Amino acid sequence: MKTLKKNGHIKALKCRECGREYPPAKIHACEECFGPLEVIYNIDSINISKPVIETRSKTLWRYRELLPLEDEKKIVDLGAGFTPLQECKRLAETLRVKKLYIKNDTVNPTGSFKDRPATVAISKSLEFGFRAVGCASTGNLAAATAAHAALAGLPCYVFIPSNTERGKVLQAAAYGAKIVAVKGTYDDANRLAAQAAYEFDWGIVNINVRPYYVEGSKTIVFEICEQLGWRAPENIIIPVGSGALLCAIWRGLKQFRELELINGFKTRLIGAQPEGCSPIVKAFKDNSEDIFPVEKPETIARSLAIGDPGDGVYALRAIKESGGLAEYATDEEIIEGMRLLAKTEGIFAEPAGGVTIAVLKKLIESGDIGKDEEVVCCITGSGFKSLEIFSADAASIIEVEPNFNSLKNLARLGGVM
Ligand SMILES: [Zn+2]
Repeated sequence: MKTLKKNGHIKALKCRECGREYPPAKIHACEECFGPLEVIYNIDSINISKPVIETRSKTLWRYRELLPLEDEKKIVDLGAGFTPLQECKRLAETLRVKKLYIKNDTVNPTGSFKDRPATVAISKSLEFGFRAVGCASTGNLAAATAAHAALAGLPCYVFIPSNTERGKVLQAAAYGAKIVAVKGTYDDANRLAAQAAYEFDWGIVNINVRPYYVEGSKTIVFEICEQLGWRAPENIIIPVGSGALLCAIWRGLKQFRELELINGFKTRLIGAQPEGCSPIVKAFKDNSEDIFPVEKPETIARSLAIGDPGDGVYALRAIKESGGLAEYATDEEIIEGMRLLAKTEGIFAEPAGGVTIAVLKKLIESGDIGKDEEVVCCITGSGFKSLEIFSADAASIIEVEPNFNSLKNLARLGGVM
């Protein structure tokens, strides 16, 4: 493994609002304007090539020159990333679109794409020497942070809204995290976690480690490009909660272009939100540059129930800059989308995946996605964590006595077969 020189590839942290630059240290907000900071790389000094990447292990750390870690010995790797890009012929036929791919991030170690930012953030937390870590989460990040903290041997504190899906909470607890269930919304949990980060000097991955944390997510688009033969797709549909994933994908495309790992791109970014929490879609449709927070999100897609999206304004800008779109889906459409994906392609997604598929269907029907276009859908989390949504399906379970006659009788009655 080639060792990176200290500070070799990370140039600075740059304020996304005023542009002021800082050394890449343990800070996350601009001292001048309180704007969020992002990692800037010394692109000229980065020596990375397609053949070298292709020989590396199949995790997101194959792109380590574009990840913000200085000491490779600090990598905490459960194997996140390099998930399948599945060509979906059956679903494409059903929806009548030419070329359709699912980027299947349900198969990450803890069942969601959040393993990507978590592996980077926990590695960086080790590098910074935090004695404890944690996160504010709508569920998926809780498990991802807890699992990587377990592997790193760090205590972990997870702040969640108390109505978070049970499966997600219990999973995080199994990894040994302390669960703080906040009687309020995600935004309340987030505020409390921010105070803990400040008062206790904990590494809260999506708050005070955020500039580094968000870098993990862009690897999803690095992989999409590599898996398409080192080129960018025409459209990517992305489920949107905070907007961080969408922004990371946009940043990732630009970095790959800058390093000439792809020959430019004309990719439209399509943001997908649940109707019950769709502040970014609303701003897009109203042609507004401001995002108006949703005070009480109400949707079955709880992983996207972020009423005041931290990266909302930037996500909106990226969508517009790409010539893309934003669309929402109702709860009913979301469930239909989850079923459709499972039944045609064998991929069992959480409601956020249903949002993506429902929006894909809507935009094909409206003609906003042409029938001869190519689309990649990001499916970011597993359905195993949201089983309660399918409890009604229990009605379709047929009980038989443990003998063949009982089965035959049922068959004769038209019950099965
Ligand atoms: Zn600033």
